Amino acid sequence: MQTYSPEQALAEAKREFGEHGGVTPSIARSSTFTVMDPAIMPEIFGGIRGPENGGCFLYSRHFNPTVDILARYLAAIEGTEAAVCTASGMSAISCTLLQLCNSGDHIVASNTIYGGTHALLKELLPQLGITAAFVDISDLAAVEAAITDRTRILYAETLGNPTLKVSDIPALSGLARRRNLTFVVDNTFCPMLVSPARLGADIVVYSLTKFMNGASDLIAGAICTNKAMIHRLMDLHTGRIMLLGPTMDPRVAFDVIQRLPHLAIRMKEHGRRAAAIAEHLASLNVPVCYPGLITHPQHDLFSSMLNDGFGYGGMMTIDCGDQIKADALLSCLQNQEDFGYIAVSLGYFDTLMSCSSSTTSSEIDPKDQHRMGLSPGLIRLSIGLTGSLHIRIQQIDRAVKAVGLASA
Ligand SMILES: *Cc1c(COP(=O)(O)O)cnc(C)c1O
Repeated sequence: MQTYSPEQALAEAKREFGEHGGVTPSIARSSTFTVMDPAIMPEIFGGIRGPENGGCFLYSRHFNPTVDILARYLAAIEGTEAAVCTASGMSAISCTLLQLCNSGDHIVASNTIYGGTHALLKELLPQLGITAAFVDISDLAAVEAAITDRTRILYAETLGNPTLKVSDIPALSGLARRRNLTFVVDNTFCPMLVSPARLGADIVVYSLTKFMNGASDLIAGAICTNKAMIHRLMDLHTGRIMLLGPTMDPRVAFDVIQRLPHLAIRMKEHGRRAAAIAEHLASLNVPVCYPGLITHPQHDLFSSMLNDGFGYGGMMTIDCGDQIKADALLSCLQNQEDFGYIAVSLGYFDTLMSCSSSTTSSEIDPKDQHRMGLSPGLIRLSIGLTGSLHIRIQQIDRAVKAVGLASA
């Protein structure tokens, strides 16, 4: 267990009030801002003078007051010097990789990652001359063996999507430091639970679309890291965020700001319910995978990285063996039992569930799916926090029995 409290760190971040003393911040929707003294315009443009040292805001693709508040709060949660918000999780990931790699460079990545990231690394980036090797991230010798003299980045997810393989962040960060690589961690599944930057990650990327926002009503992302990297990303001449332009809308930033105060409560409740459901399924001998179960092969490793008091998160999988049985269970859970919704994505207040191999991991070809331990019958569940837990357990109990997955 770690002693860092991201919840307290957020509470201690300088609070931003609305322009009339409102308890919520104002939404600054202007795309452009008036400069009172034309003489300082060049200094503002050159990034020498910002709103904090006598300059002012200039243009909302550069900086926007509302989006900046969200970035500050995210940096506080992660314990990083700074953060930048983006229009999606994918833009946070793609801009990070493109900032650190030029044509000819190489990335070592976990083979258990989000389907879109896998496609980016395997198909899009090679078209720009940037290649990747995919490795079993829990095999440190394999990770090290994949590093070449052109490797720039080590890339992993805290909890791999969708098989929930755990990355040993302190060990991987040590390896990255020794081999002079930038260690990038996607922490989308584990906000509050795990603070990768505190454990040695150089850059933490997020899809804010998921748990961070928690309402499945917007798409957003963020990059949390040191100030120097944020300046590179925002550089007027070569910054990948500045020039590729995945800008977050201030209205989206406002919505996420309003949901951060209850992120800690939500994560605890997702985890409490997921743990109870996973334990019940395990007692019925259902092939359930949840990092909070002591039978999870990396339970102790995951426990050692967790911030105290948040539990083990809301994500679990059930391996139904084949897709026909997976579809039967999904249909029963949604259409008979009202347990949750058959939908991709995760981190919503209701339960979302999908068969990964044919949906969010369908970009990964069947051979690679097999290599990463992704069964065609694997259902990924993001356990929600609505309804009575007692009744939720009865619903899933009936469903797994109806499709013949329980053997106790
Ligand atoms: C959803 C997701 C992404 C992509 O995020 P978007 O906001 O959809 O662009 C990246 N990584 C993980 C782990 C995700 O679950």
